[in-house]
Amino acid sequence: MPQPAAQTQPHPLNSVEIAANADYSPRTLLPLELVMRHIILAFIILSSALASTVVPATPRNVILIIGDGFDDQHVTMGRNYLSGMSGQLGLDTLAFRASVQIETVSDEGQPLYVADSANTATSLATGRMTNIGRIATDIADNDLPSIAERAIEAGWRVGLVTTSSLTDATPASFLAHVSSRSCEGPKEVLGSTYYGIPQPACLSDARDNGGPGSIVEQLVGSGAHVLLGGGDKFMKQQTVDGITVSQLAVNQGFRVISRDTAFDSLAAPQRLLGAFDEETLEVQWQGTDARIGEPVERSWLSHISKYFGSVTEPSPMSCEPNPAYRNTPRLAAMTDLALTHLATDNEQGFFLMIESASIDKQSHKRNPCGSIGEIAQLEESLALARSFASNHPETAIIVTADHAQAAQILPEPTLYANYPIAIYSPGLTARVRTPEGGMMRINYATNNGFSEEHTGANVPLFANDVAAQWLSAFMRQRDVHDAMERFLFRPENH
Ligand SMILES: [Zn+2]
Repeated sequence: MPQPAAQTQPHPLNSVEIAANADYSPRTLLPLELVMRHIILAFIILSSALASTVVPATPRNVILIIGDGFDDQHVTMGRNYLSGMSGQLGLDTLAFRASVQIETVSDEGQPLYVADSANTATSLATGRMTNIGRIATDIADNDLPSIAERAIEAGWRVGLVTTSSLTDATPASFLAHVSSRSCEGPKEVLGSTYYGIPQPACLSDARDNGGPGSIVEQLVGSGAHVLLGGGDKFMKQQTVDGITVSQLAVNQGFRVISRDTAFDSLAAPQRLLGAFDEETLEVQWQGTDARIGEPVERSWLSHISKYFGSVTEPSPMSCEPNPAYRNTPRLAAMTDLALTHLATDNEQGFFLMIESASIDKQSHKRNPCGSIGEIAQLEESLALARSFASNHPETAIIVTADHAQAAQILPEPTLYANYPIAIYSPGLTARVRTPEGGMMRINYATNNGFSEEHTGANVPLFANDVAAQWLSAFMRQRDVHDAMERFLFRPENH
């Protein structure tokens, strides 16, 4: 929903300067009284300014890492494959762990028990519940201010890094406000189709109608410092000004970079925007011969009676490199670039959201190796974040998921293998060989359609010791937002 531009708060130091230079005193005052009066006035203005905006003595940073769909089934799949059943992922060695309840409401405000990435990212970004498909707007279509916007207004730098399109629901919810996640570009904001199915338009948001624009236009105009991910398709679109979104970004002060840019040649700090693929970035791994979850094969006799015939499980697969991945920038490379450009010459700090998006997207596709490769990418980025935090003490690191997904780890073989009838999953199954020599049977069975669905379990949260004191063992998703805000914007010495 279009809203009037927020009033920019004067920076406290500017307020002090104005106060110090202003002549508030009657001419009859003696010089000493005059000086005292100036000091008191400056003190009052400084105090009131600090109450709303705090400039920390030490740069204060939040690194929020979201594994999309990274529920405990996926955390365990990642651990089993990447570290071995008895090993530990990097995130297992963080100081704090909690469980987070997901909340969603219907259009009428009634509880729904399974979420999507738009309403959950809205909860993390704004601390408010909303309904499925909304980007930082409530069920009445009012804009909900986000922690990233508040950070920008108060002088922090903000970065979004993702393996999805930058316009996808998770990053979008931190810096854009539209009624539907489908309104990604100037074209889509007027209406679009997905696999031939009409998607909602956001007509009142369109710049054609005097609104703030599509998601990509709002991201580009948000004042963010670093935007790295996919979504070049939307950068190429024309705006109502007759220029592309990419040109709009340049006009807003972004250096627009591509896959051909040597990241380490970029002198920091710069405002960077990189959209390295048309939409979602390719994933690094796939199953053998690009195989995904498959149904069992039933002999014709088994169709006649469950006591006859045979049932064959899908043959095992391994995870192997995805040829389409090639020179796709790694999430860790984008994270490293973002940290450099956010932290250099920055005495206040930053808010950085990093998303490993395709844990979810590959679970929809029943591709466990795709998801596990994305978990490996999340782990690499977390290692960089922890290395950064070791040199920057006021850095809170939080790793969490937005919602649970479809994958389940099933017994291999089934516990009922000795029964006189064939027992098999009614869903689609992938049997993945692990590097430690095990066989992990992953099942997808949420529906009979072309894409698996999210599920409704609560999700894990991991945090470093700096963040831990602001968190509790069980939280609602919006509490995570509130904790990040309390950490980032707290008065000094708290
Ligand atoms: Zn999803």
